[in-house]
Amino acid sequence: MKIHEYQAKSLLAQHGAPIPAGEVALDAAAAAEIASKIGKRVAVKAQVHVGGRGKAGGIRLADTADSAFEAAKAIIGMDIKGLTVEKVLVEEAVDIRTEYYLGITLDRDARQDVVIFSLAGGVDIEEVAATTPEKIVRSLIDPTMGLPAYQCRQIAYEAGAAHAAVPQIARILAALYRTYTDLDATLAEINPLAILSDGRVIAADCKIVIDDNALFRHPELNDLKEEAEEDPYEAEAHRRGLQYVRLGGNVGVIGNGAGLVMGTLDEVKRAGGSPANFLDIGGGAKAEVVRSALEMVLLDPNVKGVFFNVFGGITRCDEVAKGIIEGTSTMDIHVPIVVRLAGTRVAEGRHLLAQTSNLTPAASMQEAASKIVELVGKLA
Ligand code: GDP
Ligand code: MN
Repeated sequence: MKIHEYQAKSLLAQHGAPIPAGEVALDAAAAAEIASKIGKRVAVKAQVHVGGRGKAGGIRLADTADSAFEAAKAIIGMDIKGLTVEKVLVEEAVDIRTEYYLGITLDRDARQDVVIFSLAGGVDIEEVAATTPEKIVRSLIDPTMGLPAYQCRQIAYEAGAAHAAVPQIARILAALYRTYTDLDATLAEINPLAILSDGRVIAADCKIVIDDNALFRHPELNDLKEEAEEDPYEAEAHRRGLQYVRLGGNVGVIGNGAGLVMGTLDEVKRAGGSPANFLDIGGGAKAEVVRSALEMVLLDPNVKGVFFNVFGGITRCDEVAKGIIEGTSTMDIHVPIVVRLAGTRVAEGRHLLAQTSNLTPAASMQEAASKIVELVGKLA
């Protein structure tokens, strides 16, 4: 789960790292009010779940409350990489002399968390990583030791950070690590870690991604989740209790069992098509679930056909066929549906399907994939 900069900064501050004073605003008037309360130059920053806001024009400096009003007015409603800005962070602008990068994430190869630090921070960090990777220092965190203070200092020293800033950087790194572990984050980064002209070091931006699989341990984070920023189709599937992932193609895919559905996506691709989604209806296939799954898949206007792939194990194919027939008979469907059944009581299942007109049966998964791709036409 991604959270906003203002939320990440607040969590970081709770763990002891310095951040600029600021508050979030939903409209320009509120932004102006916060700016006048701060009483000096402010940064007005778009709060959206993507990076590169600065380059996209989503960050403006404002000297007065009036100009903060104008800045917020320009930024709220702006589209940044497909996301609409709904709120801005208004915070004390800081006088940045140098921008460092500081992050913690999981190094899967090493099976350890890793600290990443660079003196070449700021908005072009991706380019630094690509063109001059030697400017980036990496230090693995021994899980039995955690991240001791001496290692924090060593990282900053060895990277060549300004000596006067090293103790502050070390303290911020320790705070970042506490935030990362306390929240079960998969990424916690400060970019820029700003060295100010008065020598202070401050987190001028902060990004935290929380491990979805650990969210059950963090009821306190529920409020930070925003459905609006999820894919609207995935949010709807979530409400329906369906395991659905949107993929962008035009062949709707429904199957029972995650592995089978993954295999089905591959077969659609191999047949030259492009899957619109992943949808696993799980074991059993009650008419109710089939209908809900079909409705869900058809909500996506890109879907020009549906591929049902069912393997009857404990679930019997005739039961599944009944579910599909019952589910589809009450729906007004305008796209072709290809059904492949295999497994327990497959003959009975196919017999039932043969009595309907709106379902095209297929003998194998491969045959079904080519049939549906033929029916919807190939997509690049
Ligand atoms: P991002 O582009 O989404 O990563 O947003 P950041 O919060 O990192 O801001 C991008 C850039 O804007 C930073 O690297 C800074 O150069 C600049 N910036 C952000 N906040 C301030 C501020 O308070 N004062 C100054 N002078 N520059 C800022
Ligand atoms: Mn940034």
